[in-house]
Amino acid sequence: MPARVLIVATRNRHKVGEIAAILGPDDLCLSLDDAPGSPHAVEDSTTFEGNAVKKAMTLAVWLAANPSAPFWEKASGLPGFVLADDSGLEVDALEGAPGVHSARFAAIEAGAPGNSSDADNNAKIIRMLVNRGLDHATARFRCSIALTAVRPGAGSAELRAATRTFAGVCEGHLNTKPQGSTGFGYDPLFIPLGHDESFAQLTRDVKNRISHRRKALDKLRNALA
Ligand code: IMP
Repeated sequence: MPARVLIVATRNRHKVGEIAAILGPDDLCLSLDDAPGSPHAVEDSTTFEGNAVKKAMTLAVWLAANPSAPFWEKASGLPGFVLADDSGLEVDALEGAPGVHSARFAAIEAGAPGNSSDADNNAKIIRMLVNRGLDHATARFRCSIALTAVRPGAGSAELRAATRTFAGVCEGHLNTKPQGSTGFGYDPLFIPLGHDESFAQLTRDVKNRISHRRKALDKLRNALA
């Protein structure tokens, strides 16, 4: 029997899978399937934390105003939370890019709406490094998790006051040769510090033991204990 119900505010099924695997059976992790019709958050903050809070608040405010959402039936009798993850890659040789623009990096100059494909984002990073004469570069993944306790009828000020954030970082370097096929995003390019293989070559268990997401979620788990 789980101790809590968390709804993860993302349409990225890889993120939901990693978060559920890291948190384990004490937390029932739901997806946006349990909040049909909930709005997209505008991710226009310059920080991962700011965007994570926006995503958590957007969903929490909608859930509080929609007591018939399937989420509430599953949360019945258990403490309910919205969890939002905003994350991305910072490459030192690219002055910290793609940063908060990680999901839509390839399309950013064109101003095209929506996220770019992982293949396009990876190709753009490789191109930028190669143009600078580099075949590797130090980099890190950052993750900010926002957690909001929700209840039906709560107002936005109450929900904002019930929001906490937790950060995690995973240092490493990028290769200009993609390697491996597991994971998502920039995983085929990123070699975490202390390893010789990319996140996309390492097993899911290894990634989930050392990742930026794991470090942020360890802090969240301690805060809820
Ligand atoms: P978000 O959904 O706006 O937080 O976008 C995060 C983006 O950062 C993803 O689309 C990926 O491109 C990248 N990213 C974040 N975490 C990871 C990871 O664990 N592996 C690979 N790429 C990641």
